[in-house]
Amino acid sequence: MNYEIDPRWLLVEDGFVLREHEVESLFAVGNGATGTRGSLEEGSDFSAPATFVAGVFFHPEPPGAVPELITFPNWAGMKVWVNGSMLSMKEGGVLEHRRILDLKHAILHREWRQSDPNGRITRFRSLRLASLADRRLLLQQVFLTAENYCLSLTIESSIELEPGLEMPADWKHESRVECPNLLPLTLRLPEGKVAAEFCVASQVLPMEKHRVERRVEVQPRRLVESYRIQAAAGAECEFRRFVSVSRVKDNEYAPRAVAHARAAVSAGISPALSAHKSEWQARWQAADVLVDGDEPLQKALRFAAYHLISAGNPEDSYSSIAARALTGHAYKGHVFWDTEIYMLPFFIATHPATARALLEYRYHTLPAAREKACKAGYRGAMYAWESADTGEEVTPAVAITPMGEALPVRNGEMEVHITADIAYGIWQYWKATGDDSFLLNFGAEIILEAARFWAGRGSLEADGLYHIRHVIGPDEYHEDVDDNAFTNLMAGWNLRRAAEIANLLENRWSDRWSDLRDQLHLTASEVSLWPTLADVMATGFNSESLLFEQFSGYFSKEQIDLRKFEPRSASVDVILGHERVQQTNIVKQADVLMAIYLLWEELRPEIRKANFLYYEPRTAHGSSLSPSIHALLAARLGEMELAQRYLQQSEEIDLSNNMGNAAGGVHAGAIGGLWQAAVFGFAGLQLCSETVTLSPNLLPHWRRLSFPLQWRNHDLYISIQHEALKVKAAGTDSIKILLANGPALHASPDRTYVSVRKQDGWADWQEN
Ligand code: BGC
Repeated sequence: MNYEIDPRWLLVEDGFVLREHEVESLFAVGNGATGTRGSLEEGSDFSAPATFVAGVFFHPEPPGAVPELITFPNWAGMKVWVNGSMLSMKEGGVLEHRRILDLKHAILHREWRQSDPNGRITRFRSLRLASLADRRLLLQQVFLTAENYCLSLTIESSIELEPGLEMPADWKHESRVECPNLLPLTLRLPEGKVAAEFCVASQVLPMEKHRVERRVEVQPRRLVESYRIQAAAGAECEFRRFVSVSRVKDNEYAPRAVAHARAAVSAGISPALSAHKSEWQARWQAADVLVDGDEPLQKALRFAAYHLISAGNPEDSYSSIAARALTGHAYKGHVFWDTEIYMLPFFIATHPATARALLEYRYHTLPAAREKACKAGYRGAMYAWESADTGEEVTPAVAITPMGEALPVRNGEMEVHITADIAYGIWQYWKATGDDSFLLNFGAEIILEAARFWAGRGSLEADGLYHIRHVIGPDEYHEDVDDNAFTNLMAGWNLRRAAEIANLLENRWSDRWSDLRDQLHLTASEVSLWPTLADVMATGFNSESLLFEQFSGYFSKEQIDLRKFEPRSASVDVILGHERVQQTNIVKQADVLMAIYLLWEELRPEIRKANFLYYEPRTAHGSSLSPSIHALLAARLGEMELAQRYLQQSEEIDLSNNMGNAAGGVHAGAIGGLWQAAVFGFAGLQLCSETVTLSPNLLPHWRRLSFPLQWRNHDLYISIQHEALKVKAAGTDSIKILLANGPALHASPDRTYVSVRKQDGWADWQEN
């Protein structure tokens, strides 16, 4: 690999240590269609290799079991025998070992030199990637050198089927007769459905210098391909794998993998590598946040963008990004509010086509959301708290605590805010992109159906207020509460936006409106009820203290000083126990504060600040989603010490494994939150429909924060220093940029403008 590359683009793991499962998550490669953990090729006692294909779930039989992403065959695994003894870090001595994830080009490299117990030294170098240019293609290249012995090498690559997949009866015939250098598999689910096509094509190069024999052996649930290679001392041999993998939707199987893998083999590795790299280059150009003066943050932001880009797929609107993306088993590949609230903004601002595909997934799962509402006795759409392929509720009914206790999980029934969160994501996307076709064909229907659900989920009570009872808010430490402020504020927001959309459609797109109105049997009186319910929503707001009560009765919970648990080695709910924590005022994660962030423009500055100062010390950050939102808010509110502390905490979630569970995959929501903290917090960016607003607050040791941004078909580049702010806009027309405490700018395309800081704000913009 090119070691000249700026080290700030590299994630490096030297040696081999017990934290292997974490490394496998962090070093995963993916392209939104497929993800593969960064496991050692030859495996070890500490390895858990896994490849996941977005949207391919195993639906287990036993009642209560929930679907989970299938683990696909370990296409990048191999065993190597050197003159009969297996190459392994356990045998002999490790002379060098290093794994390098090149974030810039999205390629995982490994450099390893091993001396076996007989003193034979073998050099092993590998790279692997999941192509971003061709999302069906995975590539691996391995170079083996016998440094001081005549090489007699056996490379064995096997395809083993994990539970949940069946091997079709006819695969033997395909592999042996039709395509001798390819191992094709059509992978089926137990119910006979075709799940995916998978074809591995391997090669040993350059063939002419070596004696090479290839064998394919069929074993139960295992297909073993081996190469025996004889070569002179010092000779290097190259092994390549081209893997074609794609999900097959609804049994619409059309065998393409063999032709695809064959075409990739004949095109060779270089074109595939360069197409992949240039795709990544384009994505980085649209997404790379630069922080001058803070290397750990720079690395963390690149790590975040790398994993987000690796997780999204603009070509697939039938799957979405799971809480741990395609990098690990935790949460079984289920999709939560993490996607719309934490990850989506990154895609809206850097790759709107991916944002749209994520939201279309919610459209395709709308029938299941309607069914869930109907079963619970409501009209409209009630989205699943945890969603998989169909959109049905897949939250497990029971969870096992770290103490081994079985706890009933009520989130599927009660964590209803997800429905408003999805509506919120749609609105943000539409506002920032102006994509009316999305709104008309998909988004409006979801927002209207969501509003209809909210209008039935609560009730107008004798006090004249609309109450939503028996819910769980983002603070999952408190279950079955009434009037969770976040839920109710978001529900009210949803009801208002739905009425606005109904009016907008009626006035601007009357044909579409009449279709939708007829299809949903919407009446004028139903629509006009929505804002009136929002007006009387019980939000727990106290106009004297300016505080929202997190839920009814929260203020009278036992007050606990969280500082007494520091330093903590476990989360507070584990220390206190599930029952006990419910009796306290300890908050798991941003809850009221999440509402303050999402509804920022609707709340007066004093309200934002009062709630931040109240809830911040009471929040235990039991979720990886919490620190980034605290960093963001603290930066917006000018609480810079806190902002710095929370930013660091969110940088370290995966990179230092500070939640202790990165082994289960990277925290895709938390890394989306980190990106938001930098862009929406420290740069103070807000995207409204008419303007882009900036209100920067940099940390003292930063010299510059700069980032690209897409907004309504404009490409912006914003660069912020303590004393100056620069904006460059590309697009066809001018764009309005507002600077808090500063003048507005009507930026013409392809010009650069600068404003410098004055004592009490920012000076007039100058063309640069
Ligand atoms: C958090 C949820 C989150 C889920 C998946 C939970 O621990 O409390 O807010 O959606 O993890 O990341």
